[in-house]
Amino acid sequence: MILFSKLPSVCGGTLLQLPADTPLSYLLFDSRKLVVSPGATFFALKGQQQDGHRYLQQAYQGGIRCFVLEQAPREPMPEASILQVPDSLAALQQLAGWHRRQFSLPLLAITGSNGKTIVKEWLSSLLPASEQVVRSPKSYNSQIGVALSVWQLHEQHSIGIFEAGISQLGEMRALQQVLAPTLGLFTNIGPAHSRGFASLEEKVAEKALLFTDAHTIIYCRDHAPIHAHLQQQYAHKTLIGWSQLETEGPWRAGVVRRQRDSLLQLHTPAGEHSYRLPFRDSASIENALHCLFFLHSQGYAHSELQKQLSQLALPAMRLELKQGVNGSYLLDDAYNNDLAGLQVALEFLQQQKHLRKKTVILSDLLQSGLAEGELYTRVAELLQMHQVGRLIGVGPAISRAAPLFASIGQTAYYDSTEALLQEHPERQISRELVLIKGARPFGFERLVSRLQQKVHGTVLEIDLDALAHNLNFYRSRLKPGTKTMVMVKAFAYGSGSHEVAHLLQYQHVDYLAVAYPDEGISLRQAGITLPIMVMNAAEETFASLLEWELEPELYSLSQLKAFLHYLKTHRKQARVHLKMDTGMHRLGFSRADLPELMELLRASLRLARPPIEVASLFSHLAGADSAEFNDFSQLQAQRLRDYYEQLAEALSYRPLLHLLNSAGILRFPEYQFDMVRLGIGLYGAEVNGMEQRSLHPISTLKTTVSQVKQIPEGETVGYSRSQAARQNMQLATIAIGYADGFDRRFSNGVGKVLIGGALAPVVGRVCMDMTMVDVSGLDVQEGDEVIVFGPERPITQLAGEIGTIPYEILTSVSERVKRVFYSA
Ligand SMILES: *Cc1c(COP(=O)(O)O)cnc(C)c1O
Repeated sequence: MILFSKLPSVCGGTLLQLPADTPLSYLLFDSRKLVVSPGATFFALKGQQQDGHRYLQQAYQGGIRCFVLEQAPREPMPEASILQVPDSLAALQQLAGWHRRQFSLPLLAITGSNGKTIVKEWLSSLLPASEQVVRSPKSYNSQIGVALSVWQLHEQHSIGIFEAGISQLGEMRALQQVLAPTLGLFTNIGPAHSRGFASLEEKVAEKALLFTDAHTIIYCRDHAPIHAHLQQQYAHKTLIGWSQLETEGPWRAGVVRRQRDSLLQLHTPAGEHSYRLPFRDSASIENALHCLFFLHSQGYAHSELQKQLSQLALPAMRLELKQGVNGSYLLDDAYNNDLAGLQVALEFLQQQKHLRKKTVILSDLLQSGLAEGELYTRVAELLQMHQVGRLIGVGPAISRAAPLFASIGQTAYYDSTEALLQEHPERQISRELVLIKGARPFGFERLVSRLQQKVHGTVLEIDLDALAHNLNFYRSRLKPGTKTMVMVKAFAYGSGSHEVAHLLQYQHVDYLAVAYPDEGISLRQAGITLPIMVMNAAEETFASLLEWELEPELYSLSQLKAFLHYLKTHRKQARVHLKMDTGMHRLGFSRADLPELMELLRASLRLARPPIEVASLFSHLAGADSAEFNDFSQLQAQRLRDYYEQLAEALSYRPLLHLLNSAGILRFPEYQFDMVRLGIGLYGAEVNGMEQRSLHPISTLKTTVSQVKQIPEGETVGYSRSQAARQNMQLATIAIGYADGFDRRFSNGVGKVLIGGALAPVVGRVCMDMTMVDVSGLDVQEGDEVIVFGPERPITQLAGEIGTIPYEILTSVSERVKRVFYSA
């Protein structure tokens, strides 16, 4: 542990103030994930989208007392210890590197294009039980992630396994200095993230910098560019270059793939070893061989290895948020149950604040390397810091630790998962956010299936990380200071408004907008506190708008007068948004309305308590997504500016001005004004067709095969006998129809779905709840997964097939389809 006062000797900089000296505990950089504990230190990092300095006060008010920053704080923080450095990220990395050098254990660093996380996870479960392993949580392999990973190191650890990932030239040197690995493993090289590099060779060379100080490197020589580079650059090191292809050489593997598994025959200088691996795909085989060659070459092979190998599973790479019984939400984290994983899951819980009450169902933590007392003291600390109100502990160890959890409001302990299941947990859970986290031997899948709302065949999976990515992509295109309003109308374009709104609130967007008051009220009830604009506010909804602090869009004189009248008679005040019609001719004040509009505003200003405040003035482009209409869009922008100047003068203050939707943000940066209104782009469709590759698809619509049948040539399929089999046909009936949002226009071969990676065309007409597809020649079984749209089958493609736009595809997915949200 290092004292705050000693930081300058490790990472340079100047101590601005030091009212009290504390040893550093947690390292924080995200003001939304504060851990208030003595010594918790906030690093104000300057990123592309965010500047940590903006959140200093928030962190200080939240109780943080230690800061590392680049610019002195604007407001006083009298109780804070402050170190000012030229570069906060570099300081964080220097501190992590210093910490790492306090320990002399073997430290393996893994890099490569694919498989880093799996190799790391597999290796830690394959090492002998006597080893105390410390490893990166999840795939924490970035510039910040690596520093935080290394910070976990303590005396009891006997080996460290960390992954390092980079996306551009110049990044690996910093990771090498933090990790200082003694051992290296290079998984493979592929085109992933190639953007930041001129050539494959350059990418290999950059990654290999990680191994500068390692004495041994494990890699597969069948990847020629890796082999060539390591041979040339690191000839003086021990290179364990194994091969699946060559017939000569000290490290080789023969592989036999069988029906359900594969046999691995290892040739090593010490002899031959055979293993059975419960996978048969080439990626898993390569990952397993990396592990086995590492274990054999470094003296970690042991008699239980085959047994542990048989139990390998692909690590769950994502946290899933599911709707649970009785209005609860479940965060299902099947990821390895250790302290770091628990912290990651608890942080995710912070993001989804629908429900106040937080419950954690936690099994014994295995393989932590800490003594039981210390381990559960730390668990208790984490639960308390994240305001967990209820703990259900499962397993003998956590039950023994019960006295440590005395500060948690409600606790219950069970010896085993069976014992908990017998007590009908589904009756004990109601309207709460439940984190379910169990080590694998506890089989928490049974618990999840008991607590989960039953999902019928069709689900829409939403990738929250992709949403955040898309948001940040558009933010990166905004001028500094431009605000973002996000459109979450129509159930957030079909994606699920509460969960999306929580993510947006967490990401600090400035405004939300919905079409109807009901949508806004439902967001407020779910705990959304961001300002919300409502686009269609009818007179009978005025009372509830005010009650829920929703801000109406006003678009006509009659509506404005009605609202003013309402406010005056009820002695209320409200913020409103004025919509101008500049050429769309849908809703909005027209030029002819201007004189009267200004007069009404002036009159209202003259009152002692002006009933309305104009929060913003805006308009909507009719053809932002097409160059064909650029001139017209420019005319609309000109008109809007003109109206704005007149109104601002009447108001004698300047409300926010905004015009652009998603397409406009990219096409007309010069019209970003004070704010933009992001819609479809957030949900993954770039309707200009200019930047589709910069966006990530956010949703996957999945269903299942209900039945498979063979029909002879000439038979017709479905209602009205619209299509006949041209030859004998294998047919699958899938559990989705037009009532789920699978458009009837997909009938008779127009639409296609993906089954086992192959496209299966629709046969006959789409029915209300079902559809038949042609799976002739495919290996398809009842229960198989069917993908209607998703990353492999873009919504733009579906839209094209039936002559519509991505908006309609997204918003058509009916509300009876369950939404599942996940995050890496
Ligand atoms: C829906 C909507 C948007 C968002 O449009 P996208 O094309 O989805 O980005 C912006 N402004 C208004 C007024 C809207 O109704």
